[in-house]
Amino acid sequence: MPDVEPRPLAELTTLRTGGIPDRMVEARTTDELVGVVRELWSAGEPVLLVGGGSNLFAGDEPFDGTVVRVLTTGIERMPSPRPGFVRLRVAAGHGWDDLVGYAVAAGLAGIEAMSGIPGTVGAAPIQNIGAYGQEIVQTLVEVDLLDEVDGEVRAVPASDLALGFRTSALKQHYGSVPERVAVILSVTLELAEAGHGERPLAGDQLRTALGLGAGDAVSLAWVRDHVLATRARKGMVLDEGDHDTWSAGSFFQNAVVSAGFARTLPPECPRWPVAPDVVDTVTVYPLATFDGYVPPPTSQESDVKISAAWLIEHAGLGKGFRLARSSRAALSSKHALALTNRGGATAEELSELARFIQGRVQSEFGLILQPEPVLVGVEL
Ligand SMILES: Cc1cc2nc3c(=O)[nH]c(=O)nc-3n(C[C@H](O)[C@H](O)[C@H](O)COP(=O)(O)OP(=O)(O)OC[C@H]3O[C@@H](n4cnc5c(N)ncnc54)[C@H](O)[C@@H]3O)c2cc1C
Repeated sequence: MPDVEPRPLAELTTLRTGGIPDRMVEARTTDELVGVVRELWSAGEPVLLVGGGSNLFAGDEPFDGTVVRVLTTGIERMPSPRPGFVRLRVAAGHGWDDLVGYAVAAGLAGIEAMSGIPGTVGAAPIQNIGAYGQEIVQTLVEVDLLDEVDGEVRAVPASDLALGFRTSALKQHYGSVPERVAVILSVTLELAEAGHGERPLAGDQLRTALGLGAGDAVSLAWVRDHVLATRARKGMVLDEGDHDTWSAGSFFQNAVVSAGFARTLPPECPRWPVAPDVVDTVTVYPLATFDGYVPPPTSQESDVKISAAWLIEHAGLGKGFRLARSSRAALSSKHALALTNRGGATAEELSELARFIQGRVQSEFGLILQPEPVLVGVEL
């Protein structure tokens, strides 16, 4: 097995916390990855997969098991059955932003608005990454998956992964176990052959973020450059020298609440309707018992997504907030949703700040913000 000297998770995660695990393995080929994980699963050993470590909040106590670093790389271009599209099959450990750069340089559209998201391609479906209205679910065809249930590798269509807003069947949300324990070995995307010319940009959110009007035409490369610049201004592109980027991106998820609850919040709090689940509206009345009365249809109000950043700032916790001068954990000075490590912060210092924010938002607005990163050995 490709064992290496274990390194502290603080060196492998962008929040820069976590001790030295018992054991560490580096998988550089898909066969190595499959072999190592199968062996650990059959021995009943705890396994922690680590890609770019940009969505992991690791506790101060060392992980009591094996950390498997996913370091496989490679992009394979394949024809698509849809005219005007191509497919890219990408190894799990390949850098996400490297893939976006490759696609844009090849004139392939569909992921350019997600430029600058840190981490690996294999972790991208885990929380259905997204930015400025683009999400991986829009281009994801299938993944090659190693399933814990039977240790088999199979191609699984995107529709079987329950991809939703920053979630999937594979994500370990705080306080729960994932619906499906599996390793993504490769990801297949279908992208449009758009070329290098300028064209009007689809998507209000992206146009607004980039300051474009509905008729303005731009190239894929222009979108990528401007997304990267916009994200960098918010500390959302990794930069070793900028502590505002020593984070896991957004630490709290935008809250999804009922329309009734949303009405109790101040009207200026930003909110977006969430499409309701499709319900079966056909009701069958057995003729033998039908008394002639059909109840009126009930109107179904959509749930509402609420801006977590607005709730935090309006609970009095502005950008740059920290608990005490001595704490090495603080909100980013550029973005109220990012908890950051100002250098040497422990997981406990970051957790204290996270709990304080949750408490303030709860007492001010009556809802508990949920963390977005995967928590390993951390209690909030
Ligand atoms: C500065 C910054 C900005 C960010 N901006 C965004 C953003 O705009 N949009 C967004 O959606 N996210 C954003 N994120 C979060 C993060 O970049 C993404 O979630 C990313 O996909 C995580 O990839 P990773 O390789 O770093 O995953 P890791 O942190 O290494 O792992 C995350 C989870 O996935 C599991 N995992 C990793 N690889 C595999 C695999 N091959 N198979 C199965 N499970 C696996 C891990 O065990 C863990 O549970 C941001 C993070 C940072 C630090």
